Amino acid sequence: MTKEKTEHNLNLDALKAADADVYDYLECEISRQENQLEMIASENFCSKAVLQAAGTPLTNKYAEGYPGRRYYGGCEFIDKIESIAIERAKKLFNTEHANVQPHSGTTANQAVYFSVCKPGDTILGMKLAHGGHLSHGHPVNFSGLIYRVVSYGVNFETGLIDYDELYKQAKEFKPKIIVSGASAYPRQIDFARIKSIADEVGAAHLADIAHYAGLVVAGLYGSPVGYADFVTATTHKTLRGPRSGLAMCTSDYAKALDKAVFPGLQGGPLEHVILAKAVCFKEAMTDEFKRYQKKILENAKTLGETLLSNGYKLVSGGTDCHFILLDLRGKNITGKDAEEVLEHSGITVNKNAIPNDPQTPAVTSGVRIGVPALTTRGMGIAEMKTIGGWITELLDSPLDTEKQKNIRHSILELCQSFPLYRNGGFCR
Ligand SMILES: *Cc1c(COP(=O)(O)O)cnc(C)c1O
Repeated sequence: MTKEKTEHNLNLDALKAADADVYDYLECEISRQENQLEMIASENFCSKAVLQAAGTPLTNKYAEGYPGRRYYGGCEFIDKIESIAIERAKKLFNTEHANVQPHSGTTANQAVYFSVCKPGDTILGMKLAHGGHLSHGHPVNFSGLIYRVVSYGVNFETGLIDYDELYKQAKEFKPKIIVSGASAYPRQIDFARIKSIADEVGAAHLADIAHYAGLVVAGLYGSPVGYADFVTATTHKTLRGPRSGLAMCTSDYAKALDKAVFPGLQGGPLEHVILAKAVCFKEAMTDEFKRYQKKILENAKTLGETLLSNGYKLVSGGTDCHFILLDLRGKNITGKDAEEVLEHSGITVNKNAIPNDPQTPAVTSGVRIGVPALTTRGMGIAEMKTIGGWITELLDSPLDTEKQKNIRHSILELCQSFPLYRNGGFCR
């Protein structure tokens, strides 16, 4: 990667003067974000207000505890800010209780497990290879190390969750908690059905909507609220806030959840990030945000249809959310190579295992392609069709370096027309 710089409107003077070593690379990264097509489904670009909030003097403050119950003095204003964040989260997701302190989505899930499970208890989650998340019980993750894990997956034919298998596993293994939610499942999850299974076996239900949160609050993806005891989310994916986590629950579990987050798992909360989360929640309540989420859906569907009509297969045949999962079996390219070829032209995606993948997890036969970040830049249906065409051309002839160069050039032009950190851009 060349060390390119680009013009932008972020004020970084003090940083530049203080530390040229890292500043140089920061400029490169800003340029990379500005000049490539960010299509990693879990990424987005937060607003300038959110960026500013995350860079405030609140990073200086210790505030262990909760508003009104802190272990440090000087928390008068921090309390106000965190309380606003909590109230907004509750209103936005329509939940009885919210804890805005988890540092990440993984920590939010960890806090939920801590609230209902002891080490060695059984959790039932979705297999990573079928779209689940590491923190849903993968053996290399704390969730797989501390708990006994049983997992469910999708039907290989349809790509849809096998709810009958889930039911059978639940009946047989009597988990303490059933985890729904996924990182690479493009379809609507039947939260009501999972709730009824959880009720039947006496398990708690955690719905992890890390990916779908933005669509959920816009009413465009079915909400688990009312069907789940706990709902966790990340705030940096479709929700378009700072990189962080959020844990919510019914009032029955409120005390246990708060205790699990602090003192159970974390020390001082990141109050600057909590401020940024508060700003993100306010943005997510607007009509503009709803329109944004609607465009995400339109864009994902358009991109999927373009690739389908060009002879590519999608896991489950389509999408109900912000990404598609390309099934490359039968094409002469692996997920790993596809990721690399697209990267050469400036399209950033991630390789992803597909159900029943013949390749290893490090290689895979799939690519996950998301549209939230490009939609934030203002790209729409016309651009999705163009980009779908480019992806087709690149994957159809992965060795054609001339083609990669030409498309790279076109992508630079497209990025110029949809500025990000420059004048007129979303994050300027
Ligand atoms: C992204 C994601 C997480 C974890 O988020 P981090 O903030 O990276 O820890 C948890 N669950 C699901 C389903 C995710 O997709």
